[in-house]
Amino acid sequence: MSISVLFLEDDQDILDLLLPEYRSLDYTVYQALSGHEALAILQAHPIDILVTVLHTPDMDGLTWIQQAIDQKNDLQIILMCTLEDRLLAVQAMAHHAVIAVQKPVHRDELRIHMERCREIKKTQKTLRQKEALLTIEAMDLKQAEKIAERALTIRIAISALLETSLEPLSLEKHVAVILEIILAVPWLSGLRMGALFLMDEITGTLQMVGQKNLPEPLLTLCAEVPLGKCLCGQAGQSHELIFTDQVDARHEIGFAAMTPHGHYCVPIVNKERLLGVLCLHMPAGHQHKQDEDALLSTISNTLALILEHRRTESDLRKAEERLRFMAYHDPLTGLRNRQFFDTAFGKIFTILQNVGRRQHERPFQGAFLAMLDIDHFKKVNDTYGHLMGDEVLVLFARIMTECFRDKDATFRFGGEEFVVLLNDISPETAEVVLNRFRKAVESYAFPQVGRVTVSIGAVQIEAGELAGTLIEKADLALYHSKSNGRNQVNLYHMLVAAGHLEAVSHGTEEIDLW
Ligand code: GH3
Ligand code: MG
Ligand code: MG
Repeated sequence: MSISVLFLEDDQDILDLLLPEYRSLDYTVYQALSGHEALAILQAHPIDILVTVLHTPDMDGLTWIQQAIDQKNDLQIILMCTLEDRLLAVQAMAHHAVIAVQKPVHRDELRIHMERCREIKKTQKTLRQKEALLTIEAMDLKQAEKIAERALTIRIAISALLETSLEPLSLEKHVAVILEIILAVPWLSGLRMGALFLMDEITGTLQMVGQKNLPEPLLTLCAEVPLGKCLCGQAGQSHELIFTDQVDARHEIGFAAMTPHGHYCVPIVNKERLLGVLCLHMPAGHQHKQDEDALLSTISNTLALILEHRRTESDLRKAEERLRFMAYHDPLTGLRNRQFFDTAFGKIFTILQNVGRRQHERPFQGAFLAMLDIDHFKKVNDTYGHLMGDEVLVLFARIMTECFRDKDATFRFGGEEFVVLLNDISPETAEVVLNRFRKAVESYAFPQVGRVTVSIGAVQIEAGELAGTLIEKADLALYHSKSNGRNQVNLYHMLVAAGHLEAVSHGTEEIDLW
C-alpha cells in the first residue's frame, strides 16, 4: 500500500535535500513551492501526509493549514516551524493532529515522524477497506434476504395455485381464486388490481375471463384484446414479459380519468402455444427488480400447467359424457335406448313419482308403460327404401317428444318399437293421451311415405312389479291392437276386465319401483 506525501517548502534546496530519501522509502512524493500550488495538488491527488512550512509565500500561518484541512480532513500533518512560530504551531495542533518539528529540520526526527504517520495512514486505510467490505456484505445480506423472502412468497402462492387445480371449480370461480392468490403476494400486489386473459384461437384475441378491482371503463375496453394491441396483446404476441413503470405510448387502451400506473404483463405459454396473459397493475414508478421476472415466469409456468390441466379435464369430461350418451341413447332418433330402460327403470319411476308429487301436491296417480309399434313398417322400407324408413323413424320420435310431457320418459326399444313411461297419470287420461299421440301420427304427412299409423298397448304399473312382467302385459295389449285392426290403443287391464285377455299371474317381486 503506497502512501502519498506532499512537501510544501518555498526553499527548493531543502526540497532537493529531503525528497530523495522518501522516494527511496517507497513514498509517492509530491512537492509544492506555494500554498496555492499545494492546494491544487491536494485536490488532484490522494495525499496522505502533508509536510509543510507554516508560512507560505502566498498564504500565511494558520490560514494555510486550515485550508489544507478543509480540503482533506484526514491528512497527517507535519509542521516545520521556527522557534518563533512555536505558539502558532501549538494553535494548529489544537485544531488538528499536527506534529511540529523545529527548523532546521533534523532528518532522522522527520523520518521517525513520517514513518509513524505512514503507519497511522496504513492502519486507517486497512480499517476503511474492511469497513467498506462489511457494508457491502451487510447490503448483500439484506438484498439476499429480500430475494429469499420474495421467492418464499411465490412458493407459497404456487402451492396454493396448484391446490386450486384439484378443486372442481367453474372457470369463472377458478380464475377469481387464482387472481386472489396472486394479488395476495405482498411485493406483487401493487395496486391490488389485475386481470387474467385466455387466448381464443378462433378470433385471435385475448378474452378477459376474470379481473379484480379493475376500473369500470377497462371492463369493456379490455374485454377482448387483439394480439399485438396494448401491453397485454404485445406480451401475448411476443411471448415476452412486459414491464412498465408508467403509462407510455405502448399502453394503447386507456380512458380520460385514468390514474398513473405501471404493469406486469406476463404471457402464459405452453410448448410455444399461447394460453393467455396475466396482467398486473403496479404503482407508477415501481422499481423493477431482476428476480421479479424469474418469479413471475414461475407463476406463469404454473398457470400454464393449471390451464392445460383444465383443458384436458374438460376434453375428457366431454368425451366421457359423449360416450355415456352414446351408450344410453339411440343414435338415429336421439331417444333413450333399451339399455337405458333396463338399467334405470326402477330409478326413473322413483324420480318421476317425486317430481309428480312436488308439482301437484296431490296423491300420485300412478304410471303407465306403453309399447308403440309402427304398423306395416316393413312395407315402408320395401316401398320407399331403408333411408325413407329411417326418416319415418326420426319423425315418429319427434312426434313422441312433442306429444308427451317432460315428466314422461320416451325410449326406442329397437326397430320400429318404442316405449313411453307416462308418469303421474290416471287410466282415463293415459288412454286419452295415447290416443292423442296415435291420431297425431295418423294425421302427420310423412314426406313421400304419406300416412303412417301406430298400434299401442299399455299397462298400469303396479308397485313392486317386475319390468319383464310389465313389458309382457303391454306386449299382449299391443298384440291385441295389431290383431284387432291396428292403429288403436288398448289398455291391458281393460282387455282383461272385458275378457279379451287372460291375466298374467307371475312376477311381483325383486324390483321395487317405488
Ligand atoms: P306390424 O304392423 O305387424 O308391426 O308390421 P311391421 O312390418 O311393422 O313389422 P315387422 O316386425 O314385420 O317389420 C319391422 C321392420 O322394421 C323390419 C325391419 O327391416 C325394419 N327395421 C328395423 N329397424 C330399422 C331401422 O333402423 N331402419 C329401418 N329403415 N328399418 C328398420
Ligand atoms: Mg315390430
Ligand atoms: Mg311394426
